[in-house]
Amino acid sequence: MKIINHRLYKDDKTSLYREGNPNIGPPIDPPKFLIIHYTAGSTVEGAIATLTSPKDNSPTAHLVIGRDGSITQLVPFNCNGYHAGGTSTWRDFKNMNLYSIGIELDNAGYYDQKVGEKWKSSFGKLYDPADVFEFACGGHLAWHRYTPIQLDALNQVSKLLLNTYPIQEVLGHQDVLKTKSDPGPAFPMETLRQQLFSPPAVSFSIGEAEEKVEWPLAEPEHKNTRHRASQSRRG
Ligand SMILES: [Zn+2]
Repeated sequence: MKIINHRLYKDDKTSLYREGNPNIGPPIDPPKFLIIHYTAGSTVEGAIATLTSPKDNSPTAHLVIGRDGSITQLVPFNCNGYHAGGTSTWRDFKNMNLYSIGIELDNAGYYDQKVGEKWKSSFGKLYDPADVFEFACGGHLAWHRYTPIQLDALNQVSKLLLNTYPIQEVLGHQDVLKTKSDPGPAFPMETLRQQLFSPPAVSFSIGEAEEKVEWPLAEPEHKNTRHRASQSRRG
């Protein structure tokens, strides 16, 4: 993927930007934060319809990532996406819409009720237990799992955004607005933060390791030698 003029393209130059969103706000300063959301809906197209609704004060977001890893951009990265809420705050920042890129993940959100073996979503659809993360939190009993391919797409696009904009932190909507519970406990926030911000571990292939690194098996010999030397000095 690449970003040209604040819009996302696949490597083959296919545009991932969907034209026609009436909810795009005015330009913002270069974004400092990524804010992760869940859509709390049943389909990615339903979420996109809501986020591009022409109704007054409709929320929107920069990106929507489907459960199949598909990415759709609805707002240029240099424009206000109205995804975080005007009263959102983080550290000294107020109205996080002015400082962030909003990323929506297609996910049903929380579950409060079981029907037989299945979990019933807030919009009445039933989900298999295999898709549900049972963890009581914030007044809810369980949460929709994210898919590995969806999280991989999020990781890839987040790395590209970090390379393009002065992104300092990745936050959840729940971090910046206390009334929100997305992306919730099923989202692996710490893993994503480590993948994006921790320096990569130094790793060598075996052949390189033999050349460049003193092999650990030799270590006790050195220690014993030093130990004996210090003993003899004392003695
Ligand atoms: Zn949200």
